[in-house]
Amino acid sequence: MNQTNQKEFFSAHLLDWYTENKRDLPWRRHRNPYYIWVSEIMLQQTRVDTVIPYFQRFIEQFPTVEDLADAPEQEVLKCWEGLGYYSRARNLQAAAKQVKEQHGGQVPDDKASVFALKGVGPYTAGAILSIAFNKPEPAVDGNVMRVLSRYFLIEEDIMKGSTRANMERLVVELIPESRASDFNQALMELGALVCTPKSPHCLTCPVMEHCAARIEGVEESLPVKTKAKPPRPEYRVVALVEGTGANAGKVLIRQRPQVGLLAKMWELPHVQVPQNRSGQIPDEQAMDILAGVLLEEGVAARPEAYMLDAEHTFSHIHWNLKVYRCREEEQLLAAETKEAYQLSHPEPEEDMQGAVLRWIGEEDMALYAFPNVFLKILREYFKKH
Ligand code: SF4
Repeated sequence: MNQTNQKEFFSAHLLDWYTENKRDLPWRRHRNPYYIWVSEIMLQQTRVDTVIPYFQRFIEQFPTVEDLADAPEQEVLKCWEGLGYYSRARNLQAAAKQVKEQHGGQVPDDKASVFALKGVGPYTAGAILSIAFNKPEPAVDGNVMRVLSRYFLIEEDIMKGSTRANMERLVVELIPESRASDFNQALMELGALVCTPKSPHCLTCPVMEHCAARIEGVEESLPVKTKAKPPRPEYRVVALVEGTGANAGKVLIRQRPQVGLLAKMWELPHVQVPQNRSGQIPDEQAMDILAGVLLEEGVAARPEAYMLDAEHTFSHIHWNLKVYRCREEEQLLAAETKEAYQLSHPEPEEDMQGAVLRWIGEEDMALYAFPNVFLKILREYFKKH
């Protein structure tokens, strides 16, 4: 079979298969560009099953671009809580403001305007333009590159920009006239359901007959992908401070800085500590550091005991957290203790001063957006207390 026929076969069979097998996903029920945009942002680095309930809640809470643009940021983050990669939510809201101000609340359908939206890269722009507006634009992500690498036996490294650019050109050639929306979704669907990363289901694949990798028996070794650098480990000690007196039954949380990692989200106070050979520091030393960090924040508290270990992985950092139960001490004591502490200790490793702190009970959890790792620790704690 020549290359032209191989391409035509692929497009035709893929579309027929999609018509029969596409999943009923909430964002597919209407061709609303806002829904498609939200779903595509949520689906980055996140599985469809996880996204569905988040998408439904999000659309219920922010039914239009304008509702999202006008919402308080903490509400948007709260609605995103647990999905991770929170900059996606912040960028989505910033872009909704752009759409409201520059396009009258209507998601634009021209390439330049869609590309200009905050947080919208080539893949998302292609997905919005093709799925919502049926424009023949490629939407090439890891799933799509896997399918194309296998079917056309492309052995270029998919981590390279040049490979992606070549695949985008290939997709443009493959999109049948006026079927861009279905075609791009079909390609994604095949990657998600059939041409899976491990053990692809070649026997039920609509394009197996002319799939070059299957014919050569090399489907499992494609795509070629250089390994990303593993995330750098960081060791942190965390204070779960139980309130006393007026704060009895509550725990202390703090808001992260306005910019940077997990910006403006809420967490338990914590600080990075140097690691020793085993990655751990002795409890006594950890608790001493925590007492100091809390004092710097204006809270007098006595770390009492080790509670648990937790972990959190970002794309570039892996947090190893050791959580200690601490107990708030009389406020009166704070000033004196702080002074004494400062005399005997150098500056803390991270500048914690000026942080926004709150004492919260279980009933207040709904008011603050927490990264997953702290959400789990707090839920677990309140369940037991
Ligand atoms: S035949 Fe197998 S390797 Fe080829 S596209 Fe289909 S599932 Fe993927």
